[in-house]
Order: sequence, then C-alpha cells, then structure tokens
Amino acid sequence: MISSSIAGPSGLVKTRFAPSPTGLLHFGNVRTALFNALLAAQTKGIFLLRIEDTDFERSREEYIQALQHDLDWLGLNWQEGDGIGGAAAPYRQSQRNADYDKYLQRLYEQQRAYPCFCSMIELEVSRKTQAAAGKPPRYGGKCAHLSPAESAKKLADGLANSIRFRMPKNTVIEFDDMVRGPQKFSADDIGDFIIKRSDGSYSFFFVNAIDDALMEVSHVLRGEDHLTNTPRQLALLDALNFAKPRYGHISLIVDNHGAPLSKRSGSMSMQELREMGYFPAAINNYLVRLGHHIVDAELLDAQAMRKVFSLAHLGRAPARFDKAQLDYWQSQAVHHADLESLNLWIADAIRDIVPQDESTAFATAIRDNITFPHEARFWAEVIYSNSPPISAQAKAVIENTPPDFFRKAADVLAADIEFDAFVKLVKATTGASGQKFFHPLRAALTGQLFGPELARVFPLIGFKRAHSRITQHLLSTEID
Ligand code: GLU
Repeated sequence: MISSSIAGPSGLVKTRFAPSPTGLLHFGNVRTALFNALLAAQTKGIFLLRIEDTDFERSREEYIQALQHDLDWLGLNWQEGDGIGGAAAPYRQSQRNADYDKYLQRLYEQQRAYPCFCSMIELEVSRKTQAAAGKPPRYGGKCAHLSPAESAKKLADGLANSIRFRMPKNTVIEFDDMVRGPQKFSADDIGDFIIKRSDGSYSFFFVNAIDDALMEVSHVLRGEDHLTNTPRQLALLDALNFAKPRYGHISLIVDNHGAPLSKRSGSMSMQELREMGYFPAAINNYLVRLGHHIVDAELLDAQAMRKVFSLAHLGRAPARFDKAQLDYWQSQAVHHADLESLNLWIADAIRDIVPQDESTAFATAIRDNITFPHEARFWAEVIYSNSPPISAQAKAVIENTPPDFFRKAADVLAADIEFDAFVKLVKATTGASGQKFFHPLRAALTGQLFGPELARVFPLIGFKRAHSRITQHLLSTEID
C-alpha cells in the first residue's frame, strides 16, 4: 500500500501555485492561488510560484508577465519562486530538465521506467480491447515485458519511443484528501503511464511531482480535475523515495447550467476585470466565499481572510459562479475604498466635468450609488452639467407639483445657503414635508428621483446652479 507521508521543510507549511502560462488568469486559477496563499499565510508558511511551461507551443512569456502582474494586483504575494528565486531555483519547468533527467535515470536504474515502442494505432486497439472487456482503458503493458536487450535493439534501430513508469502490481494507493477525505485507487486500474513523450518532452505527472518534492511543497491544493492524477504522482514519489505532500482537490467553478465556467457563461480574465474597474478586494472577497463557507458577511481584508480560511470549510460540490454576488462585493469594495483609491478609480471618467478641488467631495457623495467608474460620469453630469439628464419619473413629479412650491424654494435660493437651513426654510414656507417635500426637490435639483444624499450633492450643485434649475422647472410647470 502506498500512502502519503507529510513533506515540507521542518514542519513549515509550503503551498504553491503552479499555473501553465498558456492564457490569462481567470476565476478558477485565481481561486486556487488565493486558497494556497491563505493556507500558507495562516501559519506564516511559504507560498511559492512555479511556472509550468512544458507546453512549448502554447506557453508564452507575456502570459507569465501577465499572471505575475495579476497576482501582484490581487495582493497574492509569493515568497519563493519565479521572479524572486529560492533554494530550488529555477522555478520554470522549461529550465529544469537536468533534474528531470536525473530522476528519470534513477527510475531506469530501478527498472521502474521502460521505453515503449507502441504506435498510436496499437495503443488505440489496446484501449478498445480493454474497454470491450469492461476494464479501465489503461496501457495493456506490451513493452513492459521487453528484455533490456530487446529494448536496446529497438533503440539502436532508431524506433520512436516514449518512456513509461512501471506502476506497482496489486497495490492500493490511498491518501486522505484535505477536501474530499479518504481516497483509494487500485494501481492495476491505472496501468503504466507515460512520463516522457516520444518528442522528448516530460509529462505533467512526472515534472509536477518531482518539482513539488524538490521544492519541499507540503500542501498541494488544486482543482478537482487533478484528483485522478494524484495516485500516479504518489506512486512516482514513492518509487523515488521522496516525502509526499498532502493533497486537496477543490471543487470546480460551474455556470448556471452546471457546466464548467467558460467565457460565454461569464468567466472573465483578471485583466478584463481590472479594465472594467473591479477592485481586487471585490474579487478576493467573492472568491474566498466561492466553494468555501464563511459566516462573516463583512468585506474582509487580507488579514481577516487569513483568519477565517479553513480547509474544513471547503465544499465538495461544484461552486456556482454568480455575477450578482461578485458585483455585490464590488459595491462593498467601492464603499470601503480609501479616498485616494476612490479618486484614482473614477479620475478618467469625470476629469473633464468635476472641478479638481471638488473631486474628493464628489467621490464621497456618489460612491454608494456606483459600482463601476463609468457610472460616476452620470452623476458628474447630474451635478455639474448645464443641462443634466432628466428621467421621465422626475419630470412627472415636477409637473404634478404646484409651481408655488418651486417659487418659494427659488426665493430661498436667492443667496448662498447651507443645505439644512435651506430645507428648514422651504419646509416652513411651503408647509410640505416627507416625500411631498423631498421628491419634487430632488427631481428639480438633480433630474432624478433616486441618487446620492441630497445633503452631500447640494453643496456641489451650489446655490446658483440650484436656483437656475429650480427656476427652469418653475417656468416649465407654469408654461404647461
Ligand atoms: N499546471 C497545472 C495546472 O495549471 C498545475 C496543477 C497542479 O496544481 O498540480 O493545472
């Protein structure tokens, strides 16, 4: 029986994020990175970044740069790995062939690896035969029985070959998944698998396991799609006498129909989310609750997230992506953003409308009425424009208000006045109160029936503009 023994340098928790740089980071891989970063940070351990760029065709330097930028932006700092260095450098798999060659050699010496000369067609036939017999579609084992001399002859003849790992026979591979509990696999069902392809490239199973061992990773938290890879990797680590990490497989993120999250069902890259104006805090707060149950309903900062994160609260069921929830956390992040970030966030959208010395007061006034920066422009026009947008509902309220109300309000606005005093005086002279007072006032001053607190907006509109708006509506109600 093969079971896991805990690896890691002297009891230190070391987790890692091991992306393949074949595209931009999306919710799925970012959630994996977040959980790993939190798990390490909880015990002041190490969060490591390894680049799995073994797919030469699809891996790109620009994706490595982009993913590092995204992790920085999200505050998911790694303490070892690509871009930083560390004792196990280099941290890009494309530069680690010397290690892989060394451990492949070791497997050869122990007769745990052998060349396989089977052609694609032979493999296909073998798979079909197994399937027809109701067996798992593993490798039939034809080349496992070649003698060293037979193999050497085929190699000398220049026959194309891959290299397979010889799985132990009659063995059960067990491990206690950190998320899914006890797992059991039969090595015979898995069969001998390829660790080096005929084009000379190493397989994922091999390099990923060797790197985790050499980098002393203690906890591997990764997507559920890797669950069946784990017994293969445990067998490899066992053959090489490496300590084994603990594995945990987190549920996948799915759309409303239960299908894996795709671009069509709302998955966006971090780059797209950043360009739309999402705050990192919104993304982190959304993701930390996606497939991870926490009771805290507050916006959490990094420290608070560390405290509440628990492997025991990771769900086994697929996690359903919900854009409305993401946007809820975005509005929370906007509400809690510090003034500097808030100003910066809306700057481009409002620069040509809002006077610079009023930008902070403006941002503070409207922050709870917007979720994205472009929405700030609407409120900038509402407050500062000479012809602010007016909604049909606001128009109707104005038309149903006696002109006398506006005439009295305009009189009060003949001179500069504070909002509270203005409200008091208009109430006193018109006798209106509650909705009958605030609705027509808001409609006339802002052209809308909803929006930021009037007390905050009023000083930005200023008594002169307020006066002219009210007089304008007065004229229109009188003419009608
Ligand atoms: N490069 C693999 C992936 O992106 C890493 C899997 C793992 O975390 O072990 O899926």
